[in-house]
Amino acid sequence: MARIGNRKNDEIRDIKITRNYTRYAEGSVLIEMGETKVICTASIEDKVPPFLRNSGTGWINAEYSMLPRSTHQRKIRESSRGKIDGRTQEIQRLIGRAIRSVVSLDKIGERTIWVDCDVIQADGGTRTASITGAFVAVADAIHKLYKSKAIKEMPIRNFVSAISVGIVNKTHMLDLCYEEDSSAQVDMNVIMTDSGEFVEVQGTGEERPFSRDDLNELLKLGEIGNQVLIKEQRKALGEIADEILGVD
Ligand code: UDP
Repeated sequence: MARIGNRKNDEIRDIKITRNYTRYAEGSVLIEMGETKVICTASIEDKVPPFLRNSGTGWINAEYSMLPRSTHQRKIRESSRGKIDGRTQEIQRLIGRAIRSVVSLDKIGERTIWVDCDVIQADGGTRTASITGAFVAVADAIHKLYKSKAIKEMPIRNFVSAISVGIVNKTHMLDLCYEEDSSAQVDMNVIMTDSGEFVEVQGTGEERPFSRDDLNELLKLGEIGNQVLIKEQRKALGEIADEILGVD
């Protein structure tokens, strides 16, 4: 059965990363993965949470939100309900962990980098697009700190990106759109570095448990997708792509 948009099973959607998308944040990106669109900003704050005070170490925190009309049906703003739902909590923690996994926090001094991912249009894979876009925004923000001599060395050890994979109608496929995601028997988010190592794998066989062979196949697709994404991140960072990695 042909995929929506006639994509091959190992093909990601058209991707576009626009840097410096908004004016005020130190790093700001619009990432588009097909019809999924997320604005990711990285903001530097010159203080850390209480548990890190006087430690010389910094922190990276992430927040995630979907605009009310980013989805088919209007979604009530969490701020007007007064509480953050479980899905949002899970996603923002995932984004924070992914970005922290590639940054040496002791090299950013006592600063917090706030990552804000705001989904303006959702068509599946919003958490993975958030991670891929957030990395570029954070790289820009950290690069600015470095250029202003606020930090002595680049603290970024690796690129990090993320993509969804899944099993839909018994077929393993890469980068599910909403329609595919909602009929998937297995879905998985694969977060990887440019060295081909895994940062996190979130997989659920809610509709049907999956085998080791399925897992291997899905991880292979995840690898293919992340390799393409990291190339796109490099392309978006242009002349600073080689400068953002630290020496060790
Ligand atoms: N979605 C939605 N409303 C919601 C949550 C999700 O319309 O409250 C849609 C949206 O297109 C999203 C997709 O369902 O991208 C898959 O959601 P999931 O929770 O799996 O997260 P995602 O794939 O976006 O990371």
